[in-house]
Amino acid sequence: MPIYEYVCSNCKSEFEQMRPLSQSGDPAECPLCHKPAKRKISTFAAFTTSISGVPKSVPGSGSSCSSCSSGNCSTCAS
Ligand SMILES: [Zn+2]
Repeated sequence: MPIYEYVCSNCKSEFEQMRPLSQSGDPAECPLCHKPAKRKISTFAAFTTSISGVPKSVPGSGSSCSSCSSGNCSTCAS
């Protein structure tokens, strides 16, 4: 069973919970305050987005860097 990360919108605590893939989109109960917690956006999801979408940091794409407000992201550490 895969492990998913959740963050509680009430007490901001983060926790992991193992659950079936079929329930991956369902909110999990926070172990501290027992409120429903939403699943964190994992690095896997971000990785998938960068594949399907256009990467923002491609040189010569014309898009400016969001962190340094420069058009050339080679100056950024990212
Ligand atoms: Zn909580």
